[in-house]
Amino acid sequence: MPFVPTLQSLIADRWVGTTAASPLASAIDGKTVFHTHSEAVDFAEALAFARRTGGPALVAMDFQQRAARLKALGSYLIEHKEQLYAISRHSGATRADGWVDIEGGAGTLFAYASVGAAELPSGNIVHEGPAVSLGKKGGFSGTHILVPRGGVAVHINAFNFPVWGLLEKFAPTFLAGMPCIAKPATATSYLTETAVRLMHESCLLPPGSLQLIIGGTGDLLDRLDGQDIVTFTGSADTAAKLRSNKNLIGRSVPFNAEADSLNCAILGADVTPDDEEFDLFVKEVAREMSTKAGQKCTAIRRAIVPRQHLDAVAERLAARLSKIVVGDPAVDGVRMGALASKAQQSDVAVRVAQLSRGNEVVVGSTQGFAPVGEGVSNGAFFAPTLLLCRDGFTNDSVHDVEAFGPVSTLMPYGDIDEAMALAARGKGSLVSTLVTRDARVAARVVPALAAWHGRVHILDRDSAVESTGHGSPLPLLKHGGPGRAGGGEELGGVRAVKHYLQRAAVQGSPTMLAAVTREYVRGAKVQEEALHPFRKWFDELAIGDSLRTHRRTVSEADIVNFGGISGDYFYMHFDEIAAKETAFGKRIAHGYFVLSAAAGLFVSPAPGPVLANYGLDTLRFIKPVGIGDTIQARLTCKRKTEKPARKDQPAQGVVAWDVQVTNQDGELVASYDILTLVLKRPA
Ligand code: NDP
Repeated sequence: MPFVPTLQSLIADRWVGTTAASPLASAIDGKTVFHTHSEAVDFAEALAFARRTGGPALVAMDFQQRAARLKALGSYLIEHKEQLYAISRHSGATRADGWVDIEGGAGTLFAYASVGAAELPSGNIVHEGPAVSLGKKGGFSGTHILVPRGGVAVHINAFNFPVWGLLEKFAPTFLAGMPCIAKPATATSYLTETAVRLMHESCLLPPGSLQLIIGGTGDLLDRLDGQDIVTFTGSADTAAKLRSNKNLIGRSVPFNAEADSLNCAILGADVTPDDEEFDLFVKEVAREMSTKAGQKCTAIRRAIVPRQHLDAVAERLAARLSKIVVGDPAVDGVRMGALASKAQQSDVAVRVAQLSRGNEVVVGSTQGFAPVGEGVSNGAFFAPTLLLCRDGFTNDSVHDVEAFGPVSTLMPYGDIDEAMALAARGKGSLVSTLVTRDARVAARVVPALAAWHGRVHILDRDSAVESTGHGSPLPLLKHGGPGRAGGGEELGGVRAVKHYLQRAAVQGSPTMLAAVTREYVRGAKVQEEALHPFRKWFDELAIGDSLRTHRRTVSEADIVNFGGISGDYFYMHFDEIAAKETAFGKRIAHGYFVLSAAAGLFVSPAPGPVLANYGLDTLRFIKPVGIGDTIQARLTCKRKTEKPARKDQPAQGVVAWDVQVTNQDGELVASYDILTLVLKRPA
């Protein structure tokens, strides 16, 4: 008998489990490849460890440090990826499927590392400004902050992406500073266990920041409280059951669900069988059916096509599907592997039988299905199956029954309103694709699709060159959909990090708000010193360090010269008669002149620690500046963000400066932030 390893849970920094419990079979040949463990997990201990050890260790770092850690973790997983690929095959995945799961997972860590570095501050407080003045005298303001929730995130995952599923939930949670307990679907938990083992071995994870459960969740959900959060991916039935847990409801524990969904692709009526877009549509549907053997929450389950092209689409799809070689991914030429388990195979068969009632089978197992490879007769293979529903308005099953395998249903529409109505019958989905060449069709259809879908993908010959495809959730774009799709939101760049932070409104004087947010708030006290702020090293600068400049009176020569240098002879600056007829009643200076003149007022020109000005944020020209007006600027250190040290660069950080330009009456004429790189004092 070959040795069959027993999987282990990672609880309180210990690997738990030595006694074999349930066998887990390879999807390829049915042989037992792992066992779950029989030892009960102590969930009270897991939660206590996350709260007392994991959480504090995470917030001992800040957003920037955790972002750097995510990057290092991603690199570590990539270095060791072959260990994951070696067992990925047991889940039925081809190398290409494994790439999405394994390298897609590591890619998500890299993406969140970049999100953290670029969009989150130093420290552990996100200021969602700007602060708003709540009184007439400027002494009372309000703003919003986001802080780590302080609890534990429980991530319950589906079987189809054992690595990506773990990492796409872990990355934003970790970045937010929240420890998590991951519970993968048991059927493919061996792959998740290997990924967690690698992450644990890397020594990059603070103890308690990630724990792993192999098997059931026992009384875990009953032990959660209001600072915790649950995220779930899987079936709508389980989502409904778990989200109605009495304790979760009683304690208002947020529950984010991403459940099964009847995603669709619509072929626009403007596309003819001779157009490139026609083949793009066919290719996309076939690819979504075969990638991961169709076990993707985002796969196209409903292909909605103009009635006049129904036969042509069916023919071309059938031809494409017939070329897909199914079998053991280790065999050369195999393009589609197996379903994850025999249980899934039976489940998909039952659902195909339901879908077949009242619909035609265009392609399916009856046309002879023989997966290639040794021992595959005991595997969990399923034939690519294309159904045809001639009337999507009278047949409900095509909009209700999700066969989680290489299965899709074609259905015709008359006019575009019908296509949109059919799409909406999915009752909320993760994603839809619209294939059209006509921008007017896209402008009409996409808003209607957006009301029912978490993501809308518009495909034509231009976007196809670089399209990441219908079925790929991307780290920077929202993943999740309304209604049947669970109503949740995952990913979406910094939005996802905010799901794991708690938002609070804060009211007080601007000085207090600046101290809390670690960001200068207009109206707060400032420090003015003889030393120009541009002469201070990053480490020496304090929030609120400020400079009030000398003044400058704007002359007609300034306007004429600026027009000459920039080539901007807009009538408002050069045509006395036309300018008189405008709301300002006179010629005014270019806004960009005001900006440039303000820079001239506040810069300290000699070389110093300020390395570069790399942009402006929130620029507004508030009042016009006319000939004879006198402007003055105030420059205040607003926000400092540490940058991780790089070998090829001297140590530095990002400083955002608040700039206010005023006129002779003290009125604000321009307002913006400038972003600079500032050197740290050399060691
Ligand atoms: P399930 O909903 O049964 O399981 C999803 C996750 O929930 C698994 O980790 C499972 O663990 C866990 N779970 C199940 N019951 C409980 C419970 N009472 N308490 C705590 N955790 C629980 O989905 P499956 O993975 O079995 O897939 C079934 C169907 O779901 C598919 O056929 C497909 O239709 C849909 N699906 C949708 C996905 C999507 O992303 N939208 C992804 C995968 C599936 P365990 O494995 O240990 O039971």
